[in-house]
Order: sequence, then structure tokens, then C-alpha cells
Amino acid sequence: MNSKISSSSEPPPAAVDPNPKPARGGLFNNLKVVFIAGIILATLFTGWTEPGLLPSSLADRFNSALQPAESGIEGVYPTPTSRNLEHIGIVAGHSGNDSGAVCPDALGGIREVDVNLDVAERVRSSLEREGFQVDLLTEFDPLLRNYRALVLVSIHADSCQYINDQATGYKVAAAMSTTYPERALRLTNCLRTRYANATGLSFHAGSVTDDMTNYHSFEEINSNTPAAIIETGFLNLDRDFLTQQPDLAAKGISDGILCYLRNEDIPTQTAP
Ligand SMILES: [Zn+2]
Repeated sequence: MNSKISSSSEPPPAAVDPNPKPARGGLFNNLKVVFIAGIILATLFTGWTEPGLLPSSLADRFNSALQPAESGIEGVYPTPTSRNLEHIGIVAGHSGNDSGAVCPDALGGIREVDVNLDVAERVRSSLEREGFQVDLLTEFDPLLRNYRALVLVSIHADSCQYINDQATGYKVAAAMSTTYPERALRLTNCLRTRYANATGLSFHAGSVTDDMTNYHSFEEINSNTPAAIIETGFLNLDRDFLTQQPDLAAKGISDGILCYLRNEDIPTQTAP
């Protein structure tokens, strides 16, 4: 393109050009405009592919102007102004406080807090890989006071006592004392379906307790933060699963959170 423009800007042989001067000037001006526009576009293009010829701050501004809205989540939430809304909170149940349920020595002396922390750290890693900022919180973390985030999930496991042969499976309960109960319901349903898909465990609906629905963190956090608590399985009958396949438990939880955040399809269900 450059060689064409420079050759056509040379004065053509007089005999071949019957046109009066103004028209030729017009053509030349048009070519000049095209040429300058080309330079500007090329510079801009270089600017947003790499630092290029522009000062880096200007290049950054072009880059950010071209970025889609932060990970597409803003479409779901009407108030994306706070930086904290990009966070996800994961509570490793009992961590920093007590052991939770403990198995007798004959069953390996496994402590709930260790199982919870293992799963919670895996959930954090997988959500960070998806680009979220994850706060891994202790049971009574000072950060929980008025905590604001896209979502908060507290991870626990159930008793190691043998109750009966039906004491197997997982439970999910949401904070319904929230500004947006429909979001809490959706979060619960996402966790239920995705956890079942990832783990093959069944939902143990019969024993969702007041301890779960009135979970202390639900009262502390900001009422705009959707929150849920999951019991990942029973330390007695689901012990092998929880200790040998914590990656699947973590996948179920992070898939459930992503299902909620990305507004994925779920079968319509009512909350327990
Ligand atoms: Zn617990």
C-alpha cells in the first residue's frame, strides 16, 4: 500500500492528465487522509496487541476499553461497584476453632476439621483457576462480620458415629435470612445438583438440622451475600469417599458455585 501511494503522489506525465488542478489536489488530499488514517489504525492496533509505539499507560487504556465486562458476572448482579463482589468466601468448617466430629481410633482417628480443610483448599484452587479471588476463611473468621462477596459457602462433614445404614450422603442448606432469598434458593439447588453429579452421593434430606439453617455465619455476613452450608458426607459411612476422593467433593462444590454464578440451567426444585 505504501509504494502505491508514494508512486501515485508523484506528478503524473502532463500529457496523460487532462484534469484541472483542483481535482488532482482532491485526489491527493483523499490519499493523504487514507494514508494518515492507516498510520493511526496501525498504531492503535499495535497498541492493543502489545505495548508497541504507544506509551504504556495509553496502551493499557486501549486494552481495558476492549476487555469484556469482568468475567461476564456483572450481567447477573445489578451492583457490581464494590471490589468485594468479585470475591468468593469459602469457610473450612471448624478450622481455627475446634476439631469438629472425630472418628474413634479404630476408624483412623479422622477429624472433621482436617477433611473440611482439605476439601476447602481444593475448592479454592479450582475457583482461582477460574479467575475468582477466593477468601479461605476459618470457622469464626473476623472477616465474616458484614462479609460481602459473590457467594459464601461453608464446608462441613457429618458425624463419625454409626447412626443407621441410611446415614450416608450430603446435605445443603442456604441462608434464607437474606435480602435475596431467590438467590439463596438457586445457590442451594446448584450445589445439590452439581455435588450429586460429581460425587454420586445422594442427598440426605431427612437430617438438615437447625444448626445448618441457623448457621452462625449466616447472621454475621452482609445480608446481600448469598450463603450456603454443605455437609459433604458422613464421616462414618462415607469415610472412604471423603478421605480418598476429596477432589471429587471439591469439584462438586466448585461446580455448584460456578453453576450459581454463571446462571447455568438446573432442574427446578424447592429448597428443603
Ligand atoms: Zn461441622
